[in-house]
Amino acid sequence: MTTILEVSDVEARYGDVQALFGVSLRVREGETVAVIGANGAGKSTLLRTIAGLLRPTRGSVRFVGQDVTGLPAYRRQPLGITLVPEGRRLFPSLTVQENLQIGAYRRRPGRWSLTAVYDLFPRLAEMRHRSASALSGGEQQAVAIGRALMCNPRLLLLDEVSLGLAPVVVKQVYAALPAITATGTTVLVVEQDVGQALRVADRVQCLLEGRVALEGTATGLTREAVAAAYFGVDE
Ligand code: ATP
Repeated sequence: MTTILEVSDVEARYGDVQALFGVSLRVREGETVAVIGANGAGKSTLLRTIAGLLRPTRGSVRFVGQDVTGLPAYRRQPLGITLVPEGRRLFPSLTVQENLQIGAYRRRPGRWSLTAVYDLFPRLAEMRHRSASALSGGEQQAVAIGRALMCNPRLLLLDEVSLGLAPVVVKQVYAALPAITATGTTVLVVEQDVGQALRVADRVQCLLEGRVALEGTATGLTREAVAAAYFGVDE
């Protein structure tokens, strides 16, 4: 299988604060990979580095063999890298449909369209003319994912989909994932909810204080090993 993403030995900083220390990650096309870890472990920083929102101070990011380390986000998106940011970042005064249409700006060719997104999230079709601010958290998350799909990403980066949502709503949002991966889209999710990550991912990488503490297949990792890596305690 093609390697779609190769992060090699990446260091990232916010001024004096170093958030990532030599992180490497390889994702093959069609896989779903989850990056887990506690608050402040560096998960969002890793996604931001992959999306091109943060330039690493060392290391490289390659996308389908191309070195994209120096490319800003707006030049990575047309290649097929799209981020669903933590906190969704919708335009609250715009309607659901307008928010989705913004995702189609500089879109790649592919199967995702308004109709396809509405088929995936029927509730959004019902609410298409409502302003995004009138939606529930789960519905807003669906809009954020739909907006990203409108670009027809090859690699979809999902940052903390479950944040602030009730468990039942998290399940509903994640229920859309198989339909997305069935189109061949590769998915990299960042999750604090370990159970959820293990349910959806083929492979899991755990970060601890900016370093890779553990990686493996979702079915091959024991709960004890994951807990130890997550909290940084000995098994
Ligand atoms: P969370 O689940 O809380 O979002 P995370 O694993 O995504 O955690 P990051 O947000 O990547 O972690 O943060 C990694 C480290 O970088 C933390 O120490 C955090 O305080 C720091 N950090 C993140 N964003 C900034 C910023 N804008 N300025 C300074 N430090 C930052």
